[in-house]
Amino acid sequence: MTNNLYDITIIGGGPIGMFAGFYAGLRNAKAQIIESLPEMGGQVKALYPEKTILDVAGFAGLTGAELIANLQEQLDTMTEVDQKVDTKVLNLKKVDAGFEITTTKGVSYSKAVILAAGNGSFKPRELRAENVDAVADKFISYSVTNLEKFAGKDVMVAGGGDSAVDMALLLEKVANQVSILHRRAEFRGLEHMIDKLNESSVQILTPYLIKRLDQVDDKLQVTAKKVKTDEETQFSVDELVVNYGFISNNKDLQSFEVQPELEHNLVKVNSELETSEPGLFSIGDQATYLGKDTLIATGLGEAPIAVNTIMKQLYPDRRLPIHSTSLHK
Ligand SMILES: Cc1cc2nc3c(=O)[nH]c(=O)nc-3n(C[C@H](O)[C@H](O)[C@H](O)COP(=O)(O)OP(=O)(O)OC[C@H]3O[C@@H](n4cnc5c(N)ncnc54)[C@H](O)[C@@H]3O)c2cc1C
Repeated sequence: MTNNLYDITIIGGGPIGMFAGFYAGLRNAKAQIIESLPEMGGQVKALYPEKTILDVAGFAGLTGAELIANLQEQLDTMTEVDQKVDTKVLNLKKVDAGFEITTTKGVSYSKAVILAAGNGSFKPRELRAENVDAVADKFISYSVTNLEKFAGKDVMVAGGGDSAVDMALLLEKVANQVSILHRRAEFRGLEHMIDKLNESSVQILTPYLIKRLDQVDDKLQVTAKKVKTDEETQFSVDELVVNYGFISNNKDLQSFEVQPELEHNLVKVNSELETSEPGLFSIGDQATYLGKDTLIATGLGEAPIAVNTIMKQLYPDRRLPIHSTSLHK
């Protein structure tokens, strides 16, 4: 077991798990990160690599892909931290050494575990409208992973949350014309981004609901119904980007033998990010506590707290980190 016994295992290689892995390396922990997708990066890499992220400290703006590339470069400096991709954690069980971790590729052991699996597997919430299936493949996207696809086109974004607003502003840079259609008069988003939307050339269509979609020649005809009056209007676009949020699925966690206390399907943690199960921690989108915001900045702050708490528990005689990381060779 010794070869296969880690101090810290991080389940989930999203941005928060990646940074926790780096920080575990800084603390000289024997650590591994286990990620089910073929590459690290979580939601940021899979869902919005092209979007500009404005709220990560130290960066005036960088794309999702750039953030993950930077985190990867930082993580790779910790050569002793094992990075296992394409490997899904199937079970977590309490044993004398700590935890037994069963994955699609084998079994390993860990004195402590950090859950950083976000909302588990996630998929976009789909648009429901008449005839949607007939036009979906040709005209509908649920994420913007390749900006070039929208260059010079007339694009409609459906949705009213902050990522729909971000997406409309992102598409404005390359598209011929962008509109954003939302069922409420108000958008939910950071005030700064809503101001930008109002100042932009994006056409705002509110309050509308999409009723029906049809292909007319090479264009998509969107029939939208005005909320309250039911008055119908038709819009013609080349692409429809639907951003109605995501449906997440924490089934993996729910099938583990170790069952930490949950709240609304998220893992309840204390101020040291420890769950109701001693030695089991949770950070990032998967963790919840009073006042929690599911932001990258928040999760990045949680990672060192969890790692330092674990190291204090495992090695009480070791010195706590001094403030300067530059002391690390
Ligand atoms: C469209 C969109 C735009 C956003 N924009 C911003 C923004 O501008 N600023 C901001 O701060 N936040 C933004 N967010 C939120 C941000 O992406 C999340 O807060 C962040 O991704 C959380 O990171 P995480 O590492 O906790 O989880 P995730 O990114 O969800 O990563 C979790 C990882 O765990 C893996 N995993 C799950 N189950 C298992 C398993 N059983 N075994 C192994 N691996 C597993 C998953 O594959 C995934 O890679 C946005 C989110 C979306 C959807």
